[in-house]
Amino acid sequence: MAASPPDPDSSYEVIVVGGGIAGSAAALRAAQYLHRTLWIRGSKLDAKRSRAQWVYNIDNMIGVHDGIVRKKVRKLLRGEAHAEARAALDAAPHLPISTRDIVDNAVERIVEGYGQYVDQLEDTATEARRSEDGSFQVTVDGRTYRAPHLVLATGVMDRQPEILKTTRKGEVKDDIKWIYPAANREQVLYCIRCEGHLTRGQKVAVIGASETTAQIAMMLHERYASAAAVLTNGEEPGWSADSARLLEHYGVAVHRSRITAIDAGSDRLQPIQLEDGSEVDAEWGLVSMGLYCTYNDLAVQLGAQLGDEGRPQQERHVRIDARGETSVPNLFVVGDLAQREDEPVMKQVYTSQEYAVRALDVIDRRMRLARRKAILDELS
Ligand SMILES: Cc1cc2nc3c(=O)[nH]c(=O)nc-3n(C[C@H](O)[C@H](O)[C@H](O)COP(=O)(O)OP(=O)(O)OC[C@H]3O[C@@H](n4cnc5c(N)ncnc54)[C@H](O)[C@@H]3O)c2cc1C
Repeated sequence: MAASPPDPDSSYEVIVVGGGIAGSAAALRAAQYLHRTLWIRGSKLDAKRSRAQWVYNIDNMIGVHDGIVRKKVRKLLRGEAHAEARAALDAAPHLPISTRDIVDNAVERIVEGYGQYVDQLEDTATEARRSEDGSFQVTVDGRTYRAPHLVLATGVMDRQPEILKTTRKGEVKDDIKWIYPAANREQVLYCIRCEGHLTRGQKVAVIGASETTAQIAMMLHERYASAAAVLTNGEEPGWSADSARLLEHYGVAVHRSRITAIDAGSDRLQPIQLEDGSEVDAEWGLVSMGLYCTYNDLAVQLGAQLGDEGRPQQERHVRIDARGETSVPNLFVVGDLAQREDEPVMKQVYTSQEYAVRALDVIDRRMRLARRKAILDELS
């Protein structure tokens, strides 16, 4: 039986909205500082529409690596008695660490160590308002919760290529879902900064048609000695004349035909099929189509200033300062949804966690200073 939701009259010091990497880092840090916290983690549907669901193998965080644990476990399994277990460990392929593993671990640590400080809700926050006293009210399934500090970590979603696939029944279905199996097996990538090194010296099909797509194809060549091809999937290339010249110089082929199949293989991508009948052979796909949306609704309801001037509202990040605070006092935005004023938009696991921890440090400091002031006032 599902646990009943917390009482709206509960008193919280912090509300965290978002159950991905940034939200879990914020909730865990709030718990470690012993702050009464409500963590609204989102529904199953919210999770499906988030990046937290998609990252199967985090490979760019130094130290988050199965090599460390393997070595320690191997040491524990010393001696003849454990020879079989050791052999099984050595035979096991790479043990990937996913975003879900990290979030699940944070949930376990909070439940086991800080259960009395953190209430959790696996539901959607639908509305956020600010009271006259400056505190926040967040509504979940008709119940409204209150706290003086609010941390939003609701993330973003990437745009996916439509694929013109013919099903086994012979029907042509133009859908984004055809790429998911290859994306889930990490044969299609999304983040050059996180995963580009995996492609070293191999063939990569970059999907997209913008200037960023061209820059990524060039970077693959320059940084990783990878052989890139660009698949515009029926769109007109939107890159500059200089980029076109560099792509040609680097031997990057540009295919403009629609994609009709991009399928996972047992250990690498199968050749990508195009509508004009040609095939593109690549070990990796890399989607470079920008954002489908930023989940900024709650920040917009609260009047927080957005970045990305000139873009549609649903694609705009929320502006934060170096502490993670928005233009609304005590409203913090962390993770992929945030755009810090002093750096380009960062969208990695470690930046999400760093923003979250920094925001909680600021909240904690404000609370402690207020407590000290109250004590001194009383003493004087
Ligand atoms: C395919 C892929 C591979 C990647 N690989 C790497 C990698 O190897 N290394 C790396 O560092 N980074 C990687 N990244 C980037 C990394 O995944 C993100 O930076 C990180 O997940 C962002 O975390 P987040 O918490 O900001 O957002 P998300 O992980 O997207 O989480 C958002 C959360 O908010 C919840 N939510 C949304 N709306 C609501 C609401 N109204 N109420 C309540 N909850 C809500 C969702 O359920 C979800 O839990 C990758 C990204 C992708 C797409």
